[in-house]
Amino acid sequence: MRPAVIGIPWDENSSYMRGPAEAPAIIRAAFTSESANLWSETGIDFGATPIFDAGDVEPISGEGMINQIMESIAALLHRDFRPIALGGDHAITYAVIKAFAKKYSRLSILHFDAHPDIYDEFQGNRYSHACPFARIMEEGLVERLVQVGIRTATGHQREQIKRFGVEVIEMKDFNDDLRLEFDTPLYISFDIDGLDPGFAPGVSHREPGGLSTRQALNVIHRLKADIIGADIVEFNPRMDPTGITAMVCAKLMKEIAAKMLSAKDK
Ligand code: MN
Ligand code: MN
Repeated sequence: MRPAVIGIPWDENSSYMRGPAEAPAIIRAAFTSESANLWSETGIDFGATPIFDAGDVEPISGEGMINQIMESIAALLHRDFRPIALGGDHAITYAVIKAFAKKYSRLSILHFDAHPDIYDEFQGNRYSHACPFARIMEEGLVERLVQVGIRTATGHQREQIKRFGVEVIEMKDFNDDLRLEFDTPLYISFDIDGLDPGFAPGVSHREPGGLSTRQALNVIHRLKADIIGADIVEFNPRMDPTGITAMVCAKLMKEIAAKMLSAKDK
């Protein structure tokens, strides 16, 4: 089962600022930039075996986009790919996971983020990018949700975390030796603002005190899990004048894809 990238240029459920819809094309360009090579740190050469590119989901306005995303992901899963969705904002994850849950009766999510994104509703919008994990958990789409990098949980979100049995590793408690193991297929949802804005400033909601790029890569490299899908969301190119965040996204895409191919980790 090979990895496949699919762009989801959709950010109409963003609060505060738009821009993540412009991310997929810029992440692809960073991935193939001649400033770097196509080898993962773990020794996979994506020059020799390219990551399949399924193109972009055609964006439409309104709730119909959720079905559009589900169908596109389902088509890739049907062809036995391991989809890596390039957002878009975090609202895409609910639609992506709906498709995964139809194929995988047992599924866990490892979620990197500064924010728990588990508000019941945000500014009157239940499909806000601040709500996807509330929808996923109330529909019982996954067995386990583990969040890493969290540093903004409100009282309401702490209640939701308790209600849904979410396992949260708050940033203040983060340990450099973190090793996570999953006995179900694993989906990685990576919100770029989980990283410290010093490492990845190109996000709409810059929240100081986050993970270094190295810490996040170590958590991924040390995972003991069969990774069957992933997303990289919330990269906002309008906030990334130096292009560093684009390179961070491309690096995460490369290392996650390599991890998907590494049989010894399963
Ligand atoms: Mn998020
Ligand atoms: Mn976030």
